[in-house]
Amino acid sequence: MTLPFLPFTRPSIDEATIAAVGDVLRSGWITSGPKVQAFEAALSEYCGGRTVRAFNSGTATLEIALRLAGVGPGDEVITTPLTWVATANVILEVGARPVLVDIDPVTRNIDPGRIEAAITARTKALIPVDLAGLPADRDRIYAIAEEYKLRVVEDAAQSLGASWHGKRIGASFGNDRDFVSFSFHANKNLTTSEGGALVLPADVDVKLCERLRLQGVQRFPDGGMDVDVLGGKFNLTDVAAAIGLGQLPHLGEFTERRRLLARRYFATLDDAKLGLALPLADFENSNWHMFQVLLPASRDRAAFIAAMKEQGIGVGVHYPALHLFSLYRKLGWKPGDFPHAEDVGRRIVTLPLFPAMADSDVDRVCCALGQSLEQQ
Ligand SMILES: *Cc1c(COP(=O)(O)O)cnc(C)c1O
Repeated sequence: MTLPFLPFTRPSIDEATIAAVGDVLRSGWITSGPKVQAFEAALSEYCGGRTVRAFNSGTATLEIALRLAGVGPGDEVITTPLTWVATANVILEVGARPVLVDIDPVTRNIDPGRIEAAITARTKALIPVDLAGLPADRDRIYAIAEEYKLRVVEDAAQSLGASWHGKRIGASFGNDRDFVSFSFHANKNLTTSEGGALVLPADVDVKLCERLRLQGVQRFPDGGMDVDVLGGKFNLTDVAAAIGLGQLPHLGEFTERRRLLARRYFATLDDAKLGLALPLADFENSNWHMFQVLLPASRDRAAFIAAMKEQGIGVGVHYPALHLFSLYRKLGWKPGDFPHAEDVGRRIVTLPLFPAMADSDVDRVCCALGQSLEQQ
C-alpha cells in the first residue's frame, strides 16, 4: 500500500470555519467590514488588550510598522540574514538600509551579542525574527533597544502562540513602545489564507495606521474625504477574517499538538548516527512553527529532497541566507559575510510538522530520512 503524500505543512480548517466563510460570501459584504473588526478585537484580547490592526499580509504589517516608526531614507535597520526575504525587502521598500547581523547557530536567530557592534548613529530600529517559532531573546534585545533608543519591530510572523518565559509573543516586552508583526500566510500556525496583523505601540496614531493601510484616505462624518499621506492597499477582507476567527480558538491546541510532534521527532530521530544537527529543544517558549534539521555538510541537499519526495514526503527549505540573493549581492553583500547564516542556510531542511499529522507520520519521516541519507 502506498501512503498518501505527506506535505511539510497543511492548514487545519474545520467545517465551522468553512461555514462561516460561506456566510460571509452570502452576506453581500465580502471586503473589509465587521469580520475584520471582530478579528482585530479577538487578537487584541489575545495580546493583552493592546491595539491590533489587520492587514492583507505580514509583509504589509512590517512595512507599515517601519513607516509608523519613522524609518525612511538615510536610516539603518538591523535584522538577521536568516529569514524570509520579506523582512529585509520591507527595509529597502521604505528607502532605508538593512544592516545584517549573523545568527547564533544554536538558536538560528540573530545573535544578540553581535548587535551592538552593528549600531551606528543612523540605526533607527531592530527587527528580530523568531525563526521556526523560537522567540529571539527578548531580554537582551530590549536591553539594547533601551540603551541605544531604538525602535523594535518584532517579526513574529512565525511565532504566534509562542511565549518568552511565560509571557505571550504579542504582549509587550518593550514598555508598549514596540511593534509586533504577525503573518497569517497559509503555512503559518494561524492562517487567513493570506493576511497579517500589527500590534501597535501606545504612542502611535492609530488613525494614521488605518490611513496608511488604505490609500491614505480619511473619511469625514459629512461624507467628505481627504488624502494627506500616501497610503497603500493593504486591507484584509472579511472572507479572510472569517477564517482567522475560526482559527484563533484552536491556536492553543494547535501549538500543543505541534509540541508533541516535535518531542516525537527528538525521541525518534537518530541524529548521532545520521550526522544531523537538531533544532534547540525548547519546550517552554517555541510554538514549533517548523521542525528544521541541518544535513551533514557533505550531503547534497537537492538530492536529499528528491529522495524524500520519492518516498512520498515533502520537505522545505526555510531559508537560504538572504544576502546571497542576486538583489542583495548587487547591494554589496558577498559569500563569507555571515558564515553561520550561510552554513545553516545551505544545510537546513524543514521536516513535515502540522497539527493534523499523526504520530505515525513522524515515524515515517524519520524512517525515510534514514533511507534518503544512506542512499547517497
Ligand atoms: C511569512 C513571513 C513574513 C511575511 O508574511 P506574508 O504574510 O507572507 O507577507 C515575514 N517574515 C517572516 C519571518 C515570515 O515567515
